Parts: sequence; C-alpha cells; structure tokens
Amino acid sequence: MKHSEILIPIRISGLSDGVHEFDLVATPAAIGLPPEFREDVAVHVHLDKTHSQVVLTADIRTQAEFPCDRCLEPVHVPVTQSFTLMLSKDSAEAKLVDDEDTRVIDPNEPLIDIGPDTRDTALLAIPMRRVCGEDENGEPLCVDTETARRAIAQERPPDTRWDALAKLKALDENE
Ligand SMILES: [Zn+2]
Repeated sequence: MKHSEILIPIRISGLSDGVHEFDLVATPAAIGLPPEFREDVAVHVHLDKTHSQVVLTADIRTQAEFPCDRCLEPVHVPVTQSFTLMLSKDSAEAKLVDDEDTRVIDPNEPLIDIGPDTRDTALLAIPMRRVCGEDENGEPLCVDTETARRAIAQERPPDTRWDALAKLKALDENE
C-alpha cells in the first residue's frame, strides 16, 4: 500500500455551504484492515460545511471474525463506531479547539482522505471480549460447552481482598 494513495476520498471543493451526507463502502483490505475483517466497511458521512470550516462525522459499520475466547469457534463481532473531524482553513481557529481530531486543511485541497481515520477507528472498536454469548442463565452458548466452562473458570478475576491483605503485610514488614 503506497502512502500517497488516497483510500476513502471525500471531495470538499465545490461543495456548497450546508449539510451533505454520503454513504460509502470500502473493502477492509483497501484501507489496510487485518484479515479478521471479512465484510465491507460501510461509512456514513455527515458533513457540515461553512465558509471557514468543515465538521465531518463518519459512522462506520462492519464486522470482524475472531475465535471465541472460550471455545475457539469463530464468532462474528459487530464493529460500529463514529469519529468526528473538524477541518479548519484557519490555523488559529483549529488551535483554539485544541483537539487531536482537529486539523488544518489547505483551502485549495480538493479532497480529504478519511481512510486512515476509518481504519484506526475500526481497529479501536474491536471489543476486548469476544465470546459466543450467554443464555439468560449465564450459561455459555458455545457449541463446545466443556471447553467453554473450563475457560470460564479461568476467567474469574482473582480475589483482590487477598491482595489488600498482602499489601498490609508488606507494609508491616517494611516498618
Ligand atoms: Zn464459544
């Protein structure tokens, strides 16, 4: 993937002031997402343009496939997240907002690329816990319930009361 390549172009020049909405689709590979992302990434762009700035909000929606944390069967994990970019032609104004999502654009730039933001947002939106799910009794919905139960037993957080006690003891010994 070349760095100069524009992944998801949004044309800014020629847009009238006001609200514009677009629906775009990108393949995961095209924007540099890992192979766990098997489905096209749908991006809904809401763009509000004034004479000096553009506020762009993108809602991204896709899904990824991971092995279940408990039974290793593939699970489809929905990945939905939004990001907002404020594009200002005025660097002073952009600095005022002091937000990493704010950037200064060259007023002569005809288009911006939201590909890297879309990729990073999708990667950050992957849930930490990826399991087949649980029924209303908290029983795992994994096909291999035996493996799942064993995995759940190991998931239980250690009893932190003992940690507190150990800390007290350590303090005692240091005195
Ligand atoms: Zn499972």
